[in-house]
Formats: sequence, structure tokens, C-alpha cells
Amino acid sequence: MAEPLFGQPLLTVDLAAIVANWRDLAARGAPGAVAAVVKADAYGLGMAAVAPALRDAGCRHFFVACLTEGLALRGILGPRPMIAVLEGFPPGADGDAALVPVMNSLAEVEAHAAAGRACGVARRAILHVDTGMARLGLDARELAALAADHAMLAGVELLYVMTHLACADEPEHPLNALQAERFAAACAALPPARRSFANSSGLFLGPGFASDLARPGCALYGINPTPQAANPMRQVLRLDAPVLQVREIPAGASVGYGASWTAARPSRIATVAAGYADGYLRSLSGRAVAAFRGQPVPLVARVSMDLTTFDVTDLPGISAGDSLTLIGGPGCSPDEVAARAGTIGYEILTSLGSRYARRHI
Ligand code: PLP
Repeated sequence: MAEPLFGQPLLTVDLAAIVANWRDLAARGAPGAVAAVVKADAYGLGMAAVAPALRDAGCRHFFVACLTEGLALRGILGPRPMIAVLEGFPPGADGDAALVPVMNSLAEVEAHAAAGRACGVARRAILHVDTGMARLGLDARELAALAADHAMLAGVELLYVMTHLACADEPEHPLNALQAERFAAACAALPPARRSFANSSGLFLGPGFASDLARPGCALYGINPTPQAANPMRQVLRLDAPVLQVREIPAGASVGYGASWTAARPSRIATVAAGYADGYLRSLSGRAVAAFRGQPVPLVARVSMDLTTFDVTDLPGISAGDSLTLIGGPGCSPDEVAARAGTIGYEILTSLGSRYARRHI
């Protein structure tokens, strides 16, 4: 465990909570299997620690975004668990036989099938059909062509057919049912294969969204997959930053860049060693609260690159050397911080910087 140095924020990641979240999701996905999406360094929380903890808990399927992440994860997990690469392999690259590419276009299907036929060993792959996201995956025309000629898949061992939901966090959104319908029709038109459907929120949408392999990411990391209701997941991270100084300022004094906040009364200002370079977004300026021993501490003035200021006038117990919890305390969960910043919890997690000490517990 890295001990924080003077002035260094500390990010604590609770691996047991991530594992417990995965177990809850696995029960929800049963009898299908439930994978773990660990792209973007496990949503910023450290793939090298998170993935082995999930593997040891029984997770057998992992998804990353790109080949580089896949190769790194293979080095961490060894040969056994399935590691699928959502963006597929770059054109012309065979990738690595130990990784499973997601085929996102007919051209990729043709390339993998040709490679499999050429070497006489079918290439394991996942086929992505687009049912309403319009990002990656076979479009309707490509799907029709493949449905009319299954032989195009000769040379491919089709592990799963997958699709991705666009609005799963809005249970009433009509696109959810439409995507389920389109996915069922696509699977019926393709050679029989197992199906991979729900992300985190999709696992809460009901039986029409069940599949052989769900692919949750955010819920593993404590982001609420059901934004309309209380968060059913455990919180997994805490970002604590040390108070460098506490200063007294008179009424009428301004604080920080742009002099955007002026003390209305004689005030005590705590300056904390974390800023937007640490993922504490500048859009939180004047709008967030940190926590100190369960008490809310209001952020005042602008967040700067390395420093943020808090009004601790009503919290006389705070002095230099104490730490404030910026993310992961009462009133400042990643979802609450995101709401104040006008973004989503995913962005709060994946924006976390790299210069704090990290502790995985
Ligand atoms: N599947 C795909 C294709 C994704 O792109 C993602 C994440 O963006 C996920 C699953 C996991 O989604 P979530 O984090 O919402 O559970």
C-alpha cells in the first residue's frame, strides 16, 4: 500500500465492496453469467487490483475497450478468463489469440473468418449487432447480408452475439423494448449462439433483458444503475485530500482565481491539496461539499489545478494536517459530486488523476 506523502491526496478503493457488488449483480443475472467491464483502468480504480479480485471471486469474463488494455489484462490474469476487446482488433492486426475481439462490422467478420480459414483454426469472436446505439456493431444492412449467408462466419467460433442498450438507465424509455425486440430478431436470423445483452442498468430492467452474459461496469464501482431510485450498490471509493493551511480572512475578502467568492463574514478558509488535475472538476467551483467526520464542508471559490478552498468557519475542529473527503463521503458520493458538476458518475471516476497515493483494501 502506498502511504500518502506530505500534501498527497489518498484514494482508497474497497475491493471487497467491488466483489460484493459483482456477486449481487451475478445473482441478478443468473442463470446467465455476469462479466466485469474493466476498461479505462477499471473506470479509474485500478484494473491491476480490481480484475484479480473479481477473478478470485469467480468472474470468468472480462471486457476491455481496446487491444492495449486487453494485452495488459492478459498479463495480469493469465490465460484462463475470457478477455473480450469491445473495439475489436485494429485493421490488419491479428491481435492476440488469447484475446477475443468483438467484431463490429461485416468487414471485421470477413477478416476474422478469412484468418480462421487460412490457419485452419476457427477464431473465437463476439459479434456486435447495432440495435439502436448507432456507434459500433453491424447495421441493419450488414446484418441482413450475414443473415442471408451464414457461411460468411466459417472460420469464426462465435462465442456470443451482443448488443448494447442506449437508455437502460431510463426504464420507461421506449428504445429499451425496441432494442430487445431487434436483438431477438437479429439473434433468430443468425446461427445459434449465446447472447450478451445488459449493462449495469440493463440488469435492473426485467426478464426481457436477461441473457447468457451481462456486461456491467459502473455498478461494480458503486455508481447507481437505477438513478430514479436509491442506489442498491455499495460505495467503493474515497478520495481524501489533506488540508495544507487554514487561514482567517475578514468579511469582504475574496478567495481564489477570479475573486469569484467574497466572505460575507469573518471566515476560516481551508486550502486542500487537490484540484482539477486530480479529477476534482473545475465545474464543481462554488457548488460542491466535502465531508469531515460526517459533517458537510462547503467548497468556496474556484477549484484550481492543485488546490481547492473550503469554508470551515463553522467547523473549528479542522486544522492543517486534517483530511477532507472530497469524493466518497456523506453528501459527496461519486453520483452526488457528478450531479453538482453537471456530469455523470462515470466521468467522476474516470477523471480521477494519478498523483495521489492509492490504497486497495
Ligand atoms: N457494454 C458496452 C459495449 C459498453 O460500452 C459498456 C460501457 O460503456 C458496458 C457494457 C458497461 O456499461 P455500464 O458501465 O453502464 O454498466
